[in-house]
Amino acid sequence: MEVGYVYDPIYLKHDTGPHVENAGRLEASIAHLEQTGLKQQLTPIKPRAASIEELSLVHDKRYIAHIQSVAQEGGGWLEPDTVMSSRSYEAALYAAGGAITATEAVMNGEVGSAFALVRPPGHHATAQQAMGFCLFNNIAIAAKHAIAKYKLERVGIIDFDVHHGNGTQGTFYDNPQVLYISTHQYPFYPGTGWLDETGSGAATGTTINIPLPAGCGDAEYLQSFSQIIVPATKRFNPRLILVSAGYDAHGADGLASMQVSVTGFAQIVRIIKGLADELCDGHLVLSLEGGYNLSALAASIKATFDILRGSNEIEGPLGQSPYQFEAPDIAPLIKSIKEIHNLP
Ligand SMILES: [Zn+2]
Repeated sequence: MEVGYVYDPIYLKHDTGPHVENAGRLEASIAHLEQTGLKQQLTPIKPRAASIEELSLVHDKRYIAHIQSVAQEGGGWLEPDTVMSSRSYEAALYAAGGAITATEAVMNGEVGSAFALVRPPGHHATAQQAMGFCLFNNIAIAAKHAIAKYKLERVGIIDFDVHHGNGTQGTFYDNPQVLYISTHQYPFYPGTGWLDETGSGAATGTTINIPLPAGCGDAEYLQSFSQIIVPATKRFNPRLILVSAGYDAHGADGLASMQVSVTGFAQIVRIIKGLADELCDGHLVLSLEGGYNLSALAASIKATFDILRGSNEIEGPLGQSPYQFEAPDIAPLIKSIKEIHNLP
C-alpha cells in the first residue's frame, strides 16, 4: 500500500529566526528524503488550509482571530517560547490542514498510511493559548475532523514526543471517543502528564500518561509500548490511529535528556503500525511535532517512512542507543500505570 507524505514550502514561511524550532528542521528532513531516494517512493499529498470551522473544532474563535491579527501586524512573541512572523498564520492553517488532508487521504483509501511533515507543531496548543512553539493543535483538529466526517466511534492518539501534549490531552480529557496516550520526560516542560491524569467523567481512563524519568532509551520506550500502549490501544479498539510524532527523545537532541536512537524510533513506529494493521485496516496518520537535532530528526523521519513502507530492515545511521548514562529502572512506574488503568 502506498505511503503518503504531506509537505508544502509554506511551512518554511513560519519564520522564527534563530529559534530552535525553525525552517531548517523541515529543509534538512526533506533534503535527506531526496538524497536517499526515498521521496520518489512516497505519494505526495497536497495540503490545503484548514478552515476557521475546522480550527474551531479545537480552538476558540477569538484565539484564532488573535493569531491572524498578530500575523497581520508583522508577527511577534505570543509567550516566552512561541514566536510568529507575518506568514505564520498562513503556515499554521496549512499545518492543521496538512494533518487533515493526510487523514482524509488515509480514510478515503488513497494511501495506506501518511505522515504530515508540517510546522508549526501542534500538541501544546490549547483551546485559547499558543504554547511551546505551537499555534494550532494539528493532531487534535485532525482527530475531531475525522470523527465528524467519517462518523468514527473511536480514535486513538499516540504521542511519543519527549514533551507531554498538554493541549491534546486537554482537548479530549472529557471525550470518551478519543484515547490519548503519551510517553514523555517527567518532570519536564510543560509540567503536565503525571500518571494520575486519566480523563474525567465518562472519559475516565481514556487519557494514559507514561511520565518517564530522564535517561530513558530504546529499552524503556519499548517496555512502555509493549506493556502499556499495546494492550491499552487493543482494549480501546480505535478505527484510526493518529500519532504526534516528535523525535526530541533522541539521545542527540539538545532539548531533552532521553537516549532513544533512530533504531528505537523505527521500532516504536513498527509497533504502532502493527496496531493499526491489526485494529483499524492500517488507518495510520502521523503528524510531525518536535525533534531539534537536524541529523537525528532527518534520519528518524526517513526510518519512519521505511517502516511505514513495510521495510524489515531498521537502519541506525547514528548508532545504537548510546546510553551516555545509566538508564533508570521504570518497572515500578509501569506497574503503577497498569494498576491505575486495569491493564493485565
Ligand atoms: Zn517536544
